[in-house]
Amino acid sequence: MPELPEVQTIADDLNKKILGKRVLKVWLDWPKHLNFLENKNGVLKLVKKPELKYFEKFIKGKKILKARRRAKNLLLDLSCGYMMLIHQKMTGHLLVGNWKIVSGRAVAMGSDDISKDPYNRFIHVIFYLSGGKMLGLSDVRKFAKIILGKKQDLENLPELKELGPEPLDKNFKFNDFREIISSKTGKTKQVLMNPKVIAGIGNIYSDDILWLARINPFKPANKISEAELKELFKAIRIILNKAIKLRGSSISDFRDTAGKKGDYGRVMLAYQREGEKCLRNDGGIIVRKKIGGRSAHFCPVCQKL
Ligand SMILES: [Zn+2]
Repeated sequence: MPELPEVQTIADDLNKKILGKRVLKVWLDWPKHLNFLENKNGVLKLVKKPELKYFEKFIKGKKILKARRRAKNLLLDLSCGYMMLIHQKMTGHLLVGNWKIVSGRAVAMGSDDISKDPYNRFIHVIFYLSGGKMLGLSDVRKFAKIILGKKQDLENLPELKELGPEPLDKNFKFNDFREIISSKTGKTKQVLMNPKVIAGIGNIYSDDILWLARINPFKPANKISEAELKELFKAIRIILNKAIKLRGSSISDFRDTAGKKGDYGRVMLAYQREGEKCLRNDGGIIVRKKIGGRSAHFCPVCQKL
């Protein structure tokens, strides 16, 4: 699933490519992707699978003012106080390109990565934009969620309102981090992956962050020493910033808006390195252990419990 670095990569791309463009029309072949947050006299109702005509009525002519990221959500600020939230979920990714509808299916025009890489061929929603570009959603498993509504209404949805702080926010200081982590009794990996505690960190980056900070993923968060907490705080920033610089990881379906892979997968420290030597050359071999519904990858030598 795309985590903070992947969603940030998309937001940065979109700010370069589609700012100021207007939405002209919408095409789709999977109505479940779309949602509209209706506000009737202050009562919010999420309309799932709205009629395309109804959805279009609210988005047609709206200008894309800014792309932002909050946790793993991509937010598009639109004119007239509207906003679109896109959660790419497991395999969704946004592409900026050109498609032609052939027998009810979107076919990419041109001969770039968008058309060559099969991961980019599962286009289920297209926003036609002014100036000739299109914003397409490719999603093999079709879990991605798009919600359109008024910005102030969307910001009241639990998926935005109940989020913890952004780890890369300059105003998020070590003292804030200590406060939210040291009171938790859960296993550190699970605490890091809880978006209500801290936003945007998932399975891949939590493993690498913990390896860099030499903390065992199973260690209860409230048992982490002050020195370890400092290392952890530092490691979060190092890993996430590095992953943004490398444009995310594409060990699964993630691609950027040009359909290209990210490079973080080549420099992974612990994630999916099961059975390989620890990069610290401390004699440790990376193991993989179930934690909740996920797996943790770690070195039993330098990440002792
Ligand atoms: Zn090690």
